Amino acid sequence: KKIVYSGIQPSGTFTIGNYFGAMRNWVNLQEDYRSVFCVVDLHAITMPQNPEELRRRTYESIALLMALGIDPEKSILYVQSMVPEHCELTWILNCCTYMGELSRMTQFKDKSQKQGENIRVGLFDYPVLMAADILLYQTDLVPVGNDQRQHVELARDIAIRFNQQFGETFKVPEAYFGESGARIMSLQDPTRKMSKSDENTNGFISLLDDPKSIVKKFKRAVTDSEMDVHHDRENKPGVSNLMEIYACATENSLEAITAEFAGKGYGDFKKTVGEAVAESLLPVQKDYQRLLKETDYLNQIMRTHAEKASMMAWKTLAKAREKVGFVTV
Ligand code: ATP
Ligand code: MG
Repeated sequence: KKIVYSGIQPSGTFTIGNYFGAMRNWVNLQEDYRSVFCVVDLHAITMPQNPEELRRRTYESIALLMALGIDPEKSILYVQSMVPEHCELTWILNCCTYMGELSRMTQFKDKSQKQGENIRVGLFDYPVLMAADILLYQTDLVPVGNDQRQHVELARDIAIRFNQQFGETFKVPEAYFGESGARIMSLQDPTRKMSKSDENTNGFISLLDDPKSIVKKFKRAVTDSEMDVHHDRENKPGVSNLMEIYACATENSLEAITAEFAGKGYGDFKKTVGEAVAESLLPVQKDYQRLLKETDYLNQIMRTHAEKASMMAWKTLAKAREKVGFVTV
């Protein structure tokens, strides 16, 4: 079986961007692939986190992933920091990655602005840790949102370079994008992607927002001064984003949506989109509330799945250690 690998940071409550762009595809792919999914807390601490909150969000992330349909009988679902192989391979890969490559990463350029004068080395190194995550599992496919395309590309470059220098060690992975939803934009600034760590909570819809606040956030969404609902990402980024969200939530085509709202104003449109999204999230929210209470069960999943992940990861790490010339006795 081919291998699928992906991760998500416990840096906030997952948004509809995370779901439509990534996790929805994880749930589908787990049926046909050997799947490994990770809550990447090592990545999360590249930005400031409150320790108690980080721990709580890690539990919440595992519960929410299960509520969304990640099945621990079918997939490995684990927490990154519980598998020490990730850090060790990162170091080895650090030694085959160029400063210039990392300086070109747009996520680094965006996020380093928020760290002011003292930009952390961890933030700069984020893509190498991500390459280690992917390469440790001999991954074939990496289902991610569009913003991670550049990082997967770098993971490929590092794998190819390492294999050339030391001999065949890593599978060269490919990014996987769904047909829709790969780039959901902020409701407050439709030129920026929706992000769960946005300080402006009106910019995102979290999967756990209650129906009333979801509808309210959609009503406040930034659009344009025209009146008609049609899709034009360049000139109507706000409306186009709402149409895409509606398409993801209802599985309607953009043509059908244009027809549905012909002659109606933005008010009606936003309300309908908000209600559709709110309704689609209700079953997930119910499942999540039930799972979150089962702490023993969550602990058991985290423990056993970290062991499974570690067994897979160690095989690759042992190969890499041997290739670079470390002693094994
Ligand atoms: P943060 O702001 O902390 O970086 P995030 O919302 O960007 O949070 P990540 O944990 O960085 O979430 O990414 C998890 C997955 O969700 C990745 O595959 C990423 O590509 C995808 N993703 C993130 N934002 C969007 C978006 N707006 N549209 C589609 N996919 C997205
Ligand atoms: Mg992100």
